[in-house]
Amino acid sequence: MLTGFHVAVIGGDARQIEIIRRLHEWDAQVYLAGFDQLNGSFTECIDLDFDGFHVNSLDAIILPISGTDENGCVDGIFTNRTLCLQTEWLKKTPSHCQIYSGIANETLKKIVHDADRRLIPLMNRDDVAIYNSIPTVEGTIMMAIQHTDFTIHGSKVVIFGLGRVGMSLARAFDQLGAKVTVGVRSHSGAARVHEMGLDFIDMGKISSYDMNYDYLINTVPSPVVNASIIKKLPSHALILDLASKPGGSDFRYAEKRGIKAILLPGLPGLVAPKTAGRIVANVICKELQELDRKAEE
Ligand code: NAP
Repeated sequence: MLTGFHVAVIGGDARQIEIIRRLHEWDAQVYLAGFDQLNGSFTECIDLDFDGFHVNSLDAIILPISGTDENGCVDGIFTNRTLCLQTEWLKKTPSHCQIYSGIANETLKKIVHDADRRLIPLMNRDDVAIYNSIPTVEGTIMMAIQHTDFTIHGSKVVIFGLGRVGMSLARAFDQLGAKVTVGVRSHSGAARVHEMGLDFIDMGKISSYDMNYDYLINTVPSPVVNASIIKKLPSHALILDLASKPGGSDFRYAEKRGIKAILLPGLPGLVAPKTAGRIVANVICKELQELDRKAEE
């Protein structure tokens, strides 16, 4: 239980709804900013007043899974307000206050570091990222079906990256009957792809391969899907870019070549916000209980 805990939830998408529900269920006092368009759905929660006295009692602040932009501002689909995190404001929270986000860019890291608070980027945790890969894969399959006129079964799919998301994708597309190739950059990655019974290509020599694929799915957060790769794709190919913003594809060149390329951020929030919110909520609740135990020691 989180009785006596004070937690602020600032911005986010439908995943935050499940997080707020869980926190409430666990008896935390929840403060909200960025949910004004929900028309009082959470009557038990208090509107977060950034200048109010309750900032001094916050044990945790929960930001969107996407973290902040380069100005420290968060996305919020339930508000028109611009909500931004600032070092000076954070300093008003108790020194043990923890800041949770999904991913963290340099701006967010600096704001929290300068305030001398602890930042917990949840997607850095393997368990969260692996659980989260399940709705991510389902969302990718949905988009693959929606944006093509051919089946996944029997199609040629290349997946760039064999991390937490890439591995789940490779397995799922293989099981759907696609012919899957995975782009990896290490010997261990190549060995793993071989063990999975799939083909691999070396990302270090990527420009030397023929790119005759129906789908290119990118999970590498670097500009790896460049013009030289896109040039070799057949014109009916679909590029689905899952890497965190700005993605790893040259979207301008893809458009010029007439190849559909789609950046797909936040798929879990789109296709399964309840499941995705629950994954994050469970981890946050456990972390906060740990904080409680430390405080009692
Ligand atoms: P991860 O476990 O860190 O995997 C990243 C993969 O990219 C690894 O295989 C890594 O290779 C490879 N890689 C990194 N830089 C590379 C480079 N310069 N050249 C070639 N390969 C490179 O990350 P993840 O959890 O799978 O997530 C992948 C991306 O998807 C992240 O950007 C994440 O934010 C995003 N994501 C998006 C969604 C969505 O809904 N769109 C959902 C979840 C995650 P090594 O193993 O050799 O290091």
